[in-house]
Amino acid sequence: MPKLDKPFDLNVLPQVHAKMLEDHFAYIGDEMLESYEYPASREEWEAQRGGIRAKLIESMGGFPEEACDLAPVDCGTLQRDGFRIEKWRLESRPGWYIAANIYVPDEQDGPLPGVICPHGHWATGKRSVHVQRRCINFARRGYVALSLDMVGYDERAYQDHRDTWYLMTTGMTLAGLHLYDNMRALDYLCGREEVDADRIGCTGASGGGNQTTYFSAIDERVKASAPVCSVDIYADYFRKAHCNCETVPGVVAYADQPHVLGLMAGRCGLLLVNAILDGGFPILRARQALDRAHRIFDLYNPESVDIHAVYDGHAYTQKFREGVYRWFDRWLKGPVAGARSHTRGWRTCAATRCWSRAARDCRTRRRSRAQRCTGSKRSACTPGRRRSREHRRRNCARQSWQMCSAGCPDRGRRPEDARAYRRRCTR
Ligand SMILES: [Zn+2]
Repeated sequence: MPKLDKPFDLNVLPQVHAKMLEDHFAYIGDEMLESYEYPASREEWEAQRGGIRAKLIESMGGFPEEACDLAPVDCGTLQRDGFRIEKWRLESRPGWYIAANIYVPDEQDGPLPGVICPHGHWATGKRSVHVQRRCINFARRGYVALSLDMVGYDERAYQDHRDTWYLMTTGMTLAGLHLYDNMRALDYLCGREEVDADRIGCTGASGGGNQTTYFSAIDERVKASAPVCSVDIYADYFRKAHCNCETVPGVVAYADQPHVLGLMAGRCGLLLVNAILDGGFPILRARQALDRAHRIFDLYNPESVDIHAVYDGHAYTQKFREGVYRWFDRWLKGPVAGARSHTRGWRTCAATRCWSRAARDCRTRRRSRAQRCTGSKRSACTPGRRRSREHRRRNCARQSWQMCSAGCPDRGRRPEDARAYRRRCTR
């Protein structure tokens, strides 16, 4: 047996093949762009849509055979100027809980339209600034808005969001969990006497935009939909690392995303909201998706699908929101004048948590440092200022108090208290 001084050089592939997989899927994606067929008549689409919807539900892991009791638990109410924020715990599946906030206007002239507001991959979940701002605006515009945490965020951070690949062994998907949570949240919203179940909208951004797309496509109670910074064509997914909560296994075998959008045609007004500077979900791809979705929507009402392009990056700021308000007013309330935001000068509220333990402790397991410190980008808990557990605890309490009191009717009456509290906490 000859002695092996050094390993043989067994390599076969030259380095030029380093991008082989990426290039291969780019080729397949390009082929797919023209390969999908679109219906030529309304009858043809009606014959297809039921099958696409059923396959989509199956690909996302299906639903429980029987919906369990939602067992709603009232976790408190925050009264604000002109509206209140109710905190509710709901049971979506047995032992599987949703943390939800419901923004209800004080003035109600009959049942109001309702809006489901899922959020994307922002650390503070339903407490994110843009989520609270749009929910407050919806309430002030005469809607009842419900926002809920998705898996792995804020109050549901006990389960890591991306560490959910094991779901594949059961046939379930993270996208399917979110979809069913949104449906159960809507079950609760529609059961409230303030809400008109025939006038339901849904809007969210990024991952929340994808939730909006699939929820609006599958739940036929939705009459107005505005996915923000999310609509794309599936060929574009091949070269990007979207989250597994935005990925439906095997969907390209029977549909492109315009087909999914087309499931809303005839019952729902769909507004694509995209940012010109968004590299993750390029507006050119969104326009391609819109062009293809038109082939289905035009069979019903060409005006029921449109795009609102904003010169901004990946976000859901005021310019995005005002386009969505106009669209929802049109489809859920009839045309009304103006769509200005009503939260200028407002700061968001950190006391919207439903579970008191998380609110008191502020240190839920697996949460990042930024999240522990209320998730604000202006958090004072940067590494340079990090001190001790006691410092972080006081800082969390201080920021929560500041954010709450900023939107509180008592704010103007207690300025000295606020300054004294800040001095005491930052000594
Ligand atoms: Zn995700």
